[in-house]
Amino acid sequence: MNQVVLKLSMEKIRNMENYYKKYLKEKVPAGAVFTAKTPNCTITAYHSGKVLFQGADSKAESSIWGEEKIKKQNTSNKMTHLPENFSGLSVIGSDEVGTGDYFGPITVVASFVKKDQISLLTELGVKDSKDLTDKKIIEIAKQIKDIIPFSLLILPNEKYNDLQQKGMSQGKMKALLHNQAIGHVLKKIAPLAPDAILIDEFAKKEIYYNYLRGEKEIHRENVYFHTKAESIHVAVAASSILARYAFIQQFELLSKDAGFTLPKGAGSQVDKAAARLIQEKGGNALRHFAKLHFANTEKALKLVHHNK
Ligand code: MG
Repeated sequence: MNQVVLKLSMEKIRNMENYYKKYLKEKVPAGAVFTAKTPNCTITAYHSGKVLFQGADSKAESSIWGEEKIKKQNTSNKMTHLPENFSGLSVIGSDEVGTGDYFGPITVVASFVKKDQISLLTELGVKDSKDLTDKKIIEIAKQIKDIIPFSLLILPNEKYNDLQQKGMSQGKMKALLHNQAIGHVLKKIAPLAPDAILIDEFAKKEIYYNYLRGEKEIHRENVYFHTKAESIHVAVAASSILARYAFIQQFELLSKDAGFTLPKGAGSQVDKAAARLIQEKGGNALRHFAKLHFANTEKALKLVHHNK
């Protein structure tokens, strides 16, 4: 039987639970967070962080979420397919923010860092935005936004919900945004061309390009995919900071619209805030604030019903 086991963070497992919402089974085995059964794959996530993919599509399905540990060790010699001295090259890097947050848009940034700018950016403290406080992110973003060419794309919640309800997966939305942002930067810097383009990997290369099928302009030349790409090239780290900065700004605007501070993430405090929005502004208002297909919507509706 085809089977893949991944070890993932609880945050990722919660994202998966949302992602497979349609396929969730009522009965779950002991110790499991959820079981989902798609037409060709059964996915069971455990509180330990282990996630089991079984069935014909287990490889493809698991590749959306991560790489199998054992495999990684076996191939650790070639480790990556990246050109040598990659961190010292002139690179366009891209990253996105907001995909796991119920409230707020998705923001995607691609930016270009020339090799002679690498040390300056490092000096300014550019590293993975996940390791930085919001305050620090704002500070660094303001310093780098005028020294590197970049493209920022914001997918507002209304648009996200429209696309999602038409059947588009979040993965496809991300692929379209990354491809578009990269295209913008390539145009901005022309006739200069980067040595390479590095995308913080959210889907395997084949899946990424499947998502882009039918697009007029698809960027394939010198494009590399890698998980935790922020630590591989500072251009991805810079993009993660600029994307986070935009997300923070958008989030503040949304909080203003809401009339109170919206919580980040997708936890129970998010359910409560969504319930409050429904009660104060009506059910339709959520489209403007949130990614409706997340499980939080149903939980919020239950809270509202319960409060009546
Ligand atoms: Mg990323």
